[in-house]
Amino acid sequence: MAIVGAGVSGSYLGHMLQQRGHEIEIFESSTKDKHWAVCAWAASRNMLSRFSNQAGLDFESYVLHVGRTLKMELPNHVREYLDLKGLVTYDKQRWEHDLIGDVKITYNQKCTPRNIGSNQYDYVIDCTGMHRTMLPRAPEDFLIPAYEYLLENVEGMNEFYVVGYRGAKGYFWYFPLDDNRGYMGAGDVDKKYEGIETFLRDHPEARIVKKIGRPIRLAPPRRMQPFHSGNIVGVGESIGCVFPMLGEGIIPSLICCDIFLKVLDGSPRKFDFEKYTKIVLKKFAYYDDVYRIVRLKMKNELNMVKHMRLLLSMYRNMKREEGRFGFEVNLDKMTRLVRAL
Ligand SMILES: Cc1cc2nc3c(=O)[nH]c(=O)nc-3n(C[C@H](O)[C@H](O)[C@H](O)COP(=O)(O)OP(=O)(O)OC[C@H]3O[C@@H](n4cnc5c(N)ncnc54)[C@H](O)[C@@H]3O)c2cc1C
Repeated sequence: MAIVGAGVSGSYLGHMLQQRGHEIEIFESSTKDKHWAVCAWAASRNMLSRFSNQAGLDFESYVLHVGRTLKMELPNHVREYLDLKGLVTYDKQRWEHDLIGDVKITYNQKCTPRNIGSNQYDYVIDCTGMHRTMLPRAPEDFLIPAYEYLLENVEGMNEFYVVGYRGAKGYFWYFPLDDNRGYMGAGDVDKKYEGIETFLRDHPEARIVKKIGRPIRLAPPRRMQPFHSGNIVGVGESIGCVFPMLGEGIIPSLICCDIFLKVLDGSPRKFDFEKYTKIVLKKFAYYDDVYRIVRLKMKNELNMVKHMRLLLSMYRNMKREEGRFGFEVNLDKMTRLVRAL
């Protein structure tokens, strides 16, 4: 099997498939020294411990910062604090590198459906994230532009901090790493990225280590079909496994990898594309409600009464999966947040 892309999905899948005895080859478009785990490296410790255990890694050795609270500044001077329940930042770069381990990987190879000779492989897995290079374009795709800085020598910023933009157009973040390092950045449909300049002005001591730009896919799986084309199949962000309200894709992508593995284990001779599609759509069904809330907010058309069903669906599903998010899911706070944006 060939895996295109060595991000979170490609590295985890490569490892897990090789562990199962499959012959795997990963192709990555970046060169080895330039390959970077583009992301703010924040995710739920509970979930990452589970995925790490499955892959034989000790997640604790990758944790950089354990959050206690998330401070949120919202429009109209509304301020909210969320209790964190396992939200951490971790060394995603090293985690992915360790997963790849001795899996065969070719760097500096930008794949396309034409140059990857799909008849050479039983299956080609599209793990190219927002690029979705190997699959047909999805007409309802939606990406939010984002960029961020990796900073060091930042003083007085020891907690997760976000500033939500009006109309849910995006948000500014600061996520602490270790030793006064942190990721500071923003995703913004209007590309104004409010907060970045102010942060750099308020923190003249901060040193910029890296500046990274890449959009994040917000369109959920329901809008990212088809998931396969011939013997090419998409996994992770390439098929919309990102929580649309937050642009949070690590855990959803890994959940998608596990679905892929389960379906493959069930029918190893012939991958059951229909079954895979069905399970992914079911697992991420409520992401479509969340996506609709975000888009309605962006158009200033969200009505708390008219769209109550969508709002309750988001709350109930998030509450059910509270441990997977790593922060408290509280109806009052969620209502205040949606109102304030
Ligand atoms: C600025 C930013 C901050 C984020 N912060 C967070 C966060 O804190 N927490 C969170 O949960 N999510 C976050 N996300 C989202 C998260 O990073 C992604 O959803 C997740 O990494 C998706 O994993 P993936 O493996 O599917 O794709 P990616 O991790 O994007 O990996 C795709 C890989 O494919 C390679 N590739 C692309 N095209 C080709 C090609 N044609 N041929 C070969 N290789 C190719 C790329 O170089 C890359 O290595 C953030 C995203 C961005 C942009």
